Amino acid sequence: MSELNVSRFAAELKMPPQELLEQLHAAGVAKHTETDLVTADDKARLLDHLKQKHGAAGDKPKITLTRKQTTEIKKTDSTGKAKTIHVETRKKRVLPSEAPAVAAPRIDVAPVPAPALSEAERVAREAEAQRQAALRERQAAEMRAKQERGHKEDAAEAEQETIAAPVAEAIVVAEPVVAPTPAVAAPAPVAAPVAAPAPTPVRTPAPTASPVPSVAGDRPRIGMRVELRKPKDTPLRAPEPAKAEPAAVAAPAAAPKAGDKKKEPEKRSWDDGRGKKGGAGIKTRGGDSTGGWKSKKGGGKHNKSQDSDNVHGFQAPTEPIVHTVDVPETISVADLAHKMAVKGVEVVKALMKMGMMVTINQVLDQETAMIVVEEMGHTPVAAKLDDPDTYLVDEAKGEHEQISRAPVVTVMGHVDHGKTSLLDYIRRAKVAAGEAGGITQHIGAYHVETDKGIITFLDTPGHEAFTAMRARGASATDIVVLVVAADDGVMPQTIEAIHHAKAAGVPIVVAVNKIDKQGANPERIRQELVAQEVVPEDWGGDTQFVEVSAKQGTNIDGLLDAILLQAEVLELTAAVDTPAKGIIIEARLDKGRGAVASMLVQSGTLRKGDVVLAGSVYGRVRAMLDENGKQINEAGPSIPVEILGLSEVPAAGADAMVLGDEKKAREIALFRQGKFRDVKFAKQQAAKLENMFAQMAEGEVQNLPIVIKSDVQGSLEALSGSLQKLSTDEVRVQILHSGVGGISESDINLALASKAVVVGFNVRADAAARKLAEGEGVDIRYYNIIYDVVDDVKAALTGMLAPEKKEQIIGLVEIRQVFVVSKVGSIAGCYVLDGTVKRGAGVRLLRNNVVVHQGELETLKRFKDDVKEVKAGYECGLQIKNYNDIQEGDQLEIFEIIEVARTL
Ligand code: GDP
Ligand code: MG
Repeated sequence: MSELNVSRFAAELKMPPQELLEQLHAAGVAKHTETDLVTADDKARLLDHLKQKHGAAGDKPKITLTRKQTTEIKKTDSTGKAKTIHVETRKKRVLPSEAPAVAAPRIDVAPVPAPALSEAERVAREAEAQRQAALRERQAAEMRAKQERGHKEDAAEAEQETIAAPVAEAIVVAEPVVAPTPAVAAPAPVAAPVAAPAPTPVRTPAPTASPVPSVAGDRPRIGMRVELRKPKDTPLRAPEPAKAEPAAVAAPAAAPKAGDKKKEPEKRSWDDGRGKKGGAGIKTRGGDSTGGWKSKKGGGKHNKSQDSDNVHGFQAPTEPIVHTVDVPETISVADLAHKMAVKGVEVVKALMKMGMMVTINQVLDQETAMIVVEEMGHTPVAAKLDDPDTYLVDEAKGEHEQISRAPVVTVMGHVDHGKTSLLDYIRRAKVAAGEAGGITQHIGAYHVETDKGIITFLDTPGHEAFTAMRARGASATDIVVLVVAADDGVMPQTIEAIHHAKAAGVPIVVAVNKIDKQGANPERIRQELVAQEVVPEDWGGDTQFVEVSAKQGTNIDGLLDAILLQAEVLELTAAVDTPAKGIIIEARLDKGRGAVASMLVQSGTLRKGDVVLAGSVYGRVRAMLDENGKQINEAGPSIPVEILGLSEVPAAGADAMVLGDEKKAREIALFRQGKFRDVKFAKQQAAKLENMFAQMAEGEVQNLPIVIKSDVQGSLEALSGSLQKLSTDEVRVQILHSGVGGISESDINLALASKAVVVGFNVRADAAARKLAEGEGVDIRYYNIIYDVVDDVKAALTGMLAPEKKEQIIGLVEIRQVFVVSKVGSIAGCYVLDGTVKRGAGVRLLRNNVVVHQGELETLKRFKDDVKEVKAGYECGLQIKNYNDIQEGDQLEIFEIIEVARTL
């Protein structure tokens, strides 16, 4: 047989002789021309060299397949609007190609015609072939081992692949939105076991050319939310490891991809994992690459029958665990998730599906929570109502010892009959006496100690505009002192007071006042009152009449005695040794102290440090003051105190109670706020004052709902009174909510839910509220003159809302430092939080979101230089024209007046 030279060898290998020469050279075989002879030894060396090279590289070449596919989903959202969602699915599969196939491919040693080989050569080749086969076997074995080891990770990987990482939780992909891509039916690369006696030719197909159906992830990238309909009732299937043909070369465990770390562990299921795996290169051996793709689509269902011989040790639960979930009256999303043993996001998602956007900390009402629980496949059980009121009533009325308590008295009567004079006199004579130096302050109530006992007076403004509060006063009241001027007689408000008292079932003590006056006629008063069914004792009735003079202090003690006598008849008692319960008499926002509330303790004992829930506001009592401004540590029944430490300003008249648990207090407070919120199931379009009329004309709106926040209670009442008077037969002004203090997020939510307009009277929205309002398009209107509000609302009601000069807020600045310079005044060292500050712009000084001053900027400087404007993120120094009472932490609202076209 002819000698084998380089060029012939190259021809056999179907490669250019020059390349072969290079390879030979690299292998250390000295061949220079194409005619040089190639010996078996040379070949062996070349083979060794090549093996080494590929083995050492270790880095197997990878096959990367990328597919992109865009589909559209039509979906109806919660408002019933059809939306088209573009779904882009990107699949990228990376596979290590089959190592041996690569190791061997290009040059294999077996030249063809076997008979032509010399004996020695044949033996050498056989040895080589065997070695190669052994090598392959070893590698295959390694792969298997690796694969087995990698099972767990694989599951995780598969899971990662289910969900595109980038849009972390918003994205939920249903069934992989991937169309069953027609399988690429390329011949799967097979690393031919070359152990045949007559070694088959050489070149195995270059694996890179064959689109191996591979494992890795579908990566849906979706612009919008897509719901995952994870079959609720499909039990998780036990893993069915699809380790098909173990011999199959190098089942390429999908290489873990960095950057796919974000994932949702809930999604992890053996189903998916195995499904993907089943579709892996493994199947390629059988040439059924289609199966690989399909199985991906079917989420593993196709693999069910596959390869049950190699069952993994771990058995996933075959049935979802159904929890019985106690649902209390209120529960936060996080707690609910905990009870169902799922992640909070799952509950949030479930609620989203129901059309409800919630946060993890939001408190749900029982009804909603039960629906969610059911939706998630668990069994809800309505837990006993944990209404704090019943809890406290039980406590108070239960085993606890009832001790007699002081009566709480409200003074009522017609204007100018002497209510204030009477209260002042008693206070001066009985309270302030002996309290020299104490700061006497108005906390809405005070108590007096007499020889015969204690009396608490509610000192709420008796002004006629405050009818509402007076009515509330009566509900907290044991006894009404009805002041009637002896020289004036029974007047309309006297009668009104009688009605209030009778409606509340509160006994009356009549103080016939101004008996010092010339025209005083107490007898006439008695007669007139009898006509109102208030019958004096000495006339056979049950009402005490006491003749007093508030001005001169005549017979005040007689009045106090009468009150105490009446109290005795009432046998007033209360538990002392229980958590306090009471009522908020007054509340306001104090510039230095935050929310300040006067609370009348009605039962139990209020202590410093207690957690108080007052209406929808809660907080820990940081400090407690009595009516003389003295710090006290506890207050028993019928004692009024001023408490500091509440999170917000509670409504006057709100029930207040001490709860043992701050978390519970917070929860109930949030829930009560949420009651207003009520954004359930429907997101309505926010209202604008401007288009109210248009909506009314269309018959959509019969009333104009308004949320009012104001700096003080007084303007609040005046404002709501005046606005309500604007109501006509067709249109009603409805004050949804009114309160003292800045505009909060819950105000905006309330407005949003009820399509209301928010009016801020001398107050501003806080950052969160502003953001929410902007996002939802809620109309917040700031005013500082009551008539402006009235005019605007009137205009809105008549569709005459004219174009107007409207101010636009252009910036927000925080005062970080105050420098007081003599003769110049206070200079504020500021930081621009938002927008721009412009020289000459209008400015409003906000303290705790309450407007304390409005004026103009005097100067605006950066460092030493005067500047025209300063943008957000920079510091500046400024002065307010003719105003120096600025403090660190104050904010400045910068505004300009602009012309606003009317939008209808
Ligand atoms: P209110 O509107 O019910 O609070 O009445 P006030 O306490 O403000 O009193 C109205 C006016 O009546 C004031 O000018 C008081 O000085 C006067 N006044 C109140 N009590 C007496 C009284 O006992 N005798 C006399 N002569 N004047 C009184
Ligand atoms: Mg008065």
